[in-house]
Amino acid sequence: MNELIDGTLEFYQLKEMMSSHKDPERFEIYREVLQERVSWDDPILLPYGLHLYIVQKSDGDRIVKCDCGHEFCNYKENWKLHARIFVRDTEEKMNEIYPKLMSPDPEWQVIREYYCPNCAVQLEVEAVPPWYPIILDFEPDIDTFYKEWIKRPMPTKA
Ligand SMILES: [Zn+2]
Repeated sequence: MNELIDGTLEFYQLKEMMSSHKDPERFEIYREVLQERVSWDDPILLPYGLHLYIVQKSDGDRIVKCDCGHEFCNYKENWKLHARIFVRDTEEKMNEIYPKLMSPDPEWQVIREYYCPNCAVQLEVEAVPPWYPIILDFEPDIDTFYKEWIKRPMPTKA
Protein backbone atom coordinates (compact mmCIF):
# COMPACT_ATOMS: atom_id res chain seq x y z
CA MET A 1 0.00 0.00 0.00
CA ASN A 2 2.76 2.44 0.82
CA GLU A 3 4.21 2.45 -2.64
CA LEU A 4 0.78 3.46 -3.78
CA ILE A 5 0.69 6.41 -1.44
CA ASP A 6 4.21 7.70 -1.49
CA GLY A 7 4.49 9.25 -4.83
CA THR A 8 4.64 6.25 -7.07
CA LEU A 9 1.02 5.97 -8.05
CA GLU A 10 1.47 6.87 -11.65
CA PHE A 11 -1.36 8.47 -13.46
CA TYR A 12 -1.73 5.56 -15.83
CA GLN A 13 -2.11 3.23 -12.87
CA LEU A 14 -4.99 5.30 -11.64
CA LYS A 15 -6.62 5.14 -15.04
CA GLU A 16 -6.05 1.41 -15.03
CA MET A 17 -7.48 1.12 -11.55
CA MET A 18 -10.57 2.94 -12.71
CA SER A 19 -11.06 0.94 -15.85
CA SER A 20 -10.30 -2.51 -14.51
CA HIS A 21 -13.14 -3.56 -12.28
CA LYS A 22 -10.86 -5.16 -9.81
CA ASP A 23 -10.26 -3.90 -6.40
CA PRO A 24 -12.78 -1.59 -4.72
CA GLU A 25 -11.44 -2.38 -1.25
CA ARG A 26 -7.99 -1.28 -2.20
CA PHE A 27 -9.32 1.90 -3.66
CA GLU A 28 -11.33 2.72 -0.54
CA ILE A 29 -8.33 2.19 1.73
CA TYR A 30 -6.24 4.34 -0.54
CA ARG A 31 -8.89 7.04 -0.57
CA GLU A 32 -9.16 7.06 3.22
CA VAL A 33 -5.41 7.34 3.67
CA LEU A 34 -5.32 10.28 1.29
CA GLN A 35 -8.19 11.91 3.12
CA GLU A 36 -6.35 11.63 6.42
CA ARG A 37 -3.27 13.23 4.94
CA VAL A 38 -4.83 16.43 3.74
CA SER A 39 -5.65 19.27 6.10
CA TRP A 40 -9.07 20.07 4.60
CA ASP A 41 -12.23 18.03 4.97
CA ASP A 42 -13.95 18.14 1.59
CA PRO A 43 -14.52 14.46 0.83
CA ILE A 44 -12.08 13.15 -1.77
CA LEU A 45 -13.95 11.44 -4.56
CA LEU A 46 -10.93 10.56 -6.60
CA PRO A 47 -7.20 11.14 -6.58
CA TYR A 48 -6.38 13.05 -9.73
CA GLY A 49 -2.62 12.94 -9.99
CA LEU A 50 0.05 13.10 -7.35
CA HIS A 51 -1.13 16.27 -5.64
CA LEU A 52 -4.58 16.79 -7.04
CA TYR A 53 -7.95 15.43 -6.02
CA ILE A 54 -11.49 15.68 -7.20
CA VAL A 55 -13.48 16.61 -4.12
CA GLN A 56 -17.10 17.06 -3.25
CA LYS A 57 -18.09 20.55 -2.11
CA SER A 58 -21.07 21.01 0.13
CA ASP A 59 -22.91 22.92 -2.60
CA GLY A 60 -22.76 19.80 -4.77
CA ASP A 61 -19.97 21.04 -6.96
CA ARG A 62 -17.10 18.68 -7.76
CA ILE A 63 -13.84 20.47 -8.05
CA VAL A 64 -10.15 19.86 -8.58
CA LYS A 65 -8.21 20.64 -5.43
CA CYS A 66 -4.53 20.61 -4.49
CA ASP A 67 -2.89 19.08 -1.38
CA CYS A 68 -2.41 22.59 -0.08
CA GLY A 69 -6.11 23.43 -0.34
CA HIS A 70 -5.94 25.50 -3.50
CA GLU A 71 -9.10 25.01 -5.54
CA PHE A 72 -8.69 24.99 -9.29
CA CYS A 73 -12.08 24.60 -10.98
CA ASN A 74 -14.91 22.24 -11.67
CA TYR A 75 -13.45 18.86 -12.64
CA LYS A 76 -15.04 19.09 -16.07
CA GLU A 77 -13.09 22.22 -16.78
CA ASN A 78 -9.42 22.12 -17.60
CA TRP A 79 -7.44 22.69 -14.39
CA LYS A 80 -4.27 23.12 -16.43
CA LEU A 81 -5.58 26.45 -17.63
CA HIS A 82 -5.70 27.59 -14.00
CA ALA A 83 -2.20 26.40 -13.16
CA ARG A 84 1.11 28.20 -13.46
CA ILE A 85 2.63 26.96 -16.67
CA PHE A 86 6.31 26.93 -17.47
CA VAL A 87 7.20 26.04 -21.04
CA ARG A 88 10.65 24.84 -21.96
CA ASP A 89 10.72 25.91 -25.57
CA THR A 90 14.32 26.90 -26.10
CA GLU A 91 17.52 24.88 -26.02
CA GLU A 92 18.65 26.88 -23.05
CA LYS A 93 15.59 26.01 -21.00
CA MET A 94 15.75 22.38 -22.12
CA ASN A 95 19.35 22.13 -21.05
CA GLU A 96 18.40 22.98 -17.49
CA ILE A 97 16.84 19.55 -17.23
CA TYR A 98 18.32 17.53 -20.08
CA PRO A 99 21.98 16.86 -20.74
CA LYS A 100 23.07 18.56 -23.95
CA LEU A 101 22.42 16.50 -27.06
CA MET A 102 19.78 14.50 -25.24
CA SER A 103 17.31 17.31 -25.20
CA PRO A 104 14.50 17.33 -27.71
CA ASP A 105 14.57 19.84 -30.53
CA PRO A 106 12.34 22.67 -29.30
CA GLU A 107 11.05 23.16 -32.80
CA TRP A 108 9.42 19.76 -32.59
CA GLN A 109 8.84 19.23 -28.95
CA VAL A 110 8.45 21.43 -25.91
CA ILE A 111 8.13 20.56 -22.25
CA ARG A 112 5.18 22.03 -20.40
CA GLU A 113 5.34 22.03 -16.64
CA TYR A 114 2.26 22.77 -14.57
CA TYR A 115 2.54 24.17 -11.06
CA CYS A 116 0.08 24.97 -8.31
CA PRO A 117 -0.27 28.78 -8.12
CA ASN A 118 -0.52 28.58 -4.33
CA CYS A 119 2.07 26.05 -3.08
CA ALA A 120 4.17 25.82 -6.27
CA VAL A 121 4.30 22.03 -6.28
CA GLN A 122 4.81 20.52 -9.73
CA LEU A 123 1.56 18.91 -10.82
CA GLU A 124 2.22 17.57 -14.25
CA VAL A 125 4.81 17.55 -16.98
CA GLU A 126 4.07 16.89 -20.60
CA ALA A 127 6.23 16.66 -23.67
CA VAL A 128 4.24 17.81 -26.65
CA PRO A 129 4.70 19.41 -30.05
CA PRO A 130 4.74 23.20 -29.66
CA TRP A 131 1.40 23.60 -31.41
CA TYR A 132 -0.35 21.01 -29.28
CA PRO A 133 -3.35 22.41 -27.39
CA ILE A 134 -3.53 22.31 -23.61
CA ILE A 135 -5.98 19.51 -23.16
CA LEU A 136 -7.41 17.47 -20.37
CA ASP A 137 -6.27 13.96 -21.03
CA PHE A 138 -8.43 12.29 -18.46
CA GLU A 139 -12.00 13.10 -17.60
CA PRO A 140 -13.19 10.49 -15.16
CA ASP A 141 -16.79 9.39 -15.03
CA ILE A 142 -17.17 9.62 -11.26
CA ASP A 143 -20.79 8.51 -11.06
CA THR A 144 -20.24 5.37 -13.07
CA PHE A 145 -17.07 4.70 -11.15
CA TYR A 146 -18.89 4.63 -7.81
CA LYS A 147 -22.03 2.95 -9.07
CA GLU A 148 -20.53 0.22 -11.20
CA TRP A 149 -17.27 -0.45 -9.52
CA ILE A 150 -17.00 0.77 -5.96
CA LYS A 151 -20.65 -0.14 -5.43
CA ARG A 152 -21.08 2.11 -2.46
CA PRO A 153 -22.28 5.64 -1.95
CA MET A 154 -19.89 8.46 -2.58
CA PRO A 155 -18.04 9.71 0.49
CA THR A 156 -19.71 12.60 2.24
CA LYS A 157 -18.58 14.95 4.93
CA ALA A 158 -18.44 13.21 8.31
ZN1 LIG B 1 -1.04 23.56 -4.05
